[in-house]
Amino acid sequence: MPSVFIKTYGCQMNERDSEAVAAQLVAKGYTLAKSEAVADVVLLNTCSVRDMAERKALNKMANMVGIAKKERPNQIFGFMGCMAQSRGQELIDKLPDVDLVVGTQKFHRTADYLDEILAGRRDKIVDTAAEEKSEAAIREHLLNGNAQKSVSAFVSIMQGCNQYCTFCIVPYTRGEERSRTIDDIVAECRDLVSRGVKEITLLGQIVTSYGKRDIATTNGKSAFVQLVDAVHEIDGLERIRFTSPHPKGYGDDLVEAYARLPKLCESAHIPVQSGSDRLLKIMHRGYTRERFLGIIEKLRHARPGIGISTDIIVGFPGETEEDFEQTLSLAREVEFDQAYIFKYSPRRDTPAADMDGQLSTAVKEERNERLLRLVNEIAARNYEKLVGTQVQILVEGPSKKNPARMMGRTRCNKIVVFDGSDRHRGQIMDVKITRAGSFTLYGDPDILE
Ligand code: SAM
Repeated sequence: MPSVFIKTYGCQMNERDSEAVAAQLVAKGYTLAKSEAVADVVLLNTCSVRDMAERKALNKMANMVGIAKKERPNQIFGFMGCMAQSRGQELIDKLPDVDLVVGTQKFHRTADYLDEILAGRRDKIVDTAAEEKSEAAIREHLLNGNAQKSVSAFVSIMQGCNQYCTFCIVPYTRGEERSRTIDDIVAECRDLVSRGVKEITLLGQIVTSYGKRDIATTNGKSAFVQLVDAVHEIDGLERIRFTSPHPKGYGDDLVEAYARLPKLCESAHIPVQSGSDRLLKIMHRGYTRERFLGIIEKLRHARPGIGISTDIIVGFPGETEEDFEQTLSLAREVEFDQAYIFKYSPRRDTPAADMDGQLSTAVKEERNERLLRLVNEIAARNYEKLVGTQVQILVEGPSKKNPARMMGRTRCNKIVVFDGSDRHRGQIMDVKITRAGSFTLYGDPDILE
């Protein structure tokens, strides 16, 4: 059977979609190639959130088809995911050697389409149509041979986004929110736990909007909290996480779930985007700085020491120095454990792309630098404070940077690297922190009192 190499750009949802496609292909008898150079089929799973991500995938494809023309004339190429959805046929018009374009509601059709192309029944296939129930089609996992995923797995609970933030392309590439049923998700989680998975991360573009249309709030619990409760019931599951939520999803029911559910890890990635109320309004975020700070306070009260991370955009159209100062002061006030900072990138079809006051690259870069420096300083101080303390980690597998060592994550989602061996994989263990590096802690399991 042919071999396939999938390269993924963008977020964890894209990683998860690629994994499901790979698992579907393996189930059909395809093998997974180690690199594009030795693969019969190369698929790029693309991201559209920023222009840079699109350009990277386009350049990569142009480069690969160029080499294949000379060296591997029978190689098959495809685009999947967000850029495939937003550009469709345009991608083949631009790069005529591309054979397949599969949109965000069609991942599960990839294997059948490749069969048709490889058998010579069809030449080019572009499918970006909407498909009912496609939200429930991302369910297969590739646990074997992947140390980390066999311990900590991601489960896609919904697709799409209805928030329409003025900067964001996601509602146009992923469509309207569609949620799987609680029973279906729990069945997938149970199966993963029976195969050795200890930690599950529930995934969605705005995960806290899960089931809003279909599942009524019951006893004050939103559909999302009802789902977390149901997953919490699974015997053998040790930890639950979710990403990414929206601040508006942090009602008291969710805050209370942190206090009530021991498996729900004390860690929250809550995208704030800006510290300026003026910009939050123009971004169409639906909360104020004060509301965001109130959520953080409640969460820290419910779970002292909770790890808080965020996403921030710098250089949104019309962002003044004063708006940006508001973001800096928010970062100082919250003391995020980690912040992903994005330079605003105009996206097609989004209202912000046509707004007045687009800022220069130089301004965006300068603000990015300043905010990054602040976030790093604060995080370094707080990581340093953990030296000498004892933390609980779930060991995922070899460290990516140094495979001779093992890595695990604290409940607050901090990476801990230590000298261990494969026998530690999947174990929940206590380690003493001996040193702090840049967003990494170093631990020793042997020096516990
Ligand atoms: N659930 C998240 C939220 O509440 O907004 C959305 C996840 S989005 C796919 C990931 C991050 O990309 C966003 O949080 C935002 O910071 C960033 N992003 C989205 N559109 C962007 C744009 N046009 N330019 C720069 N960054 C962008």
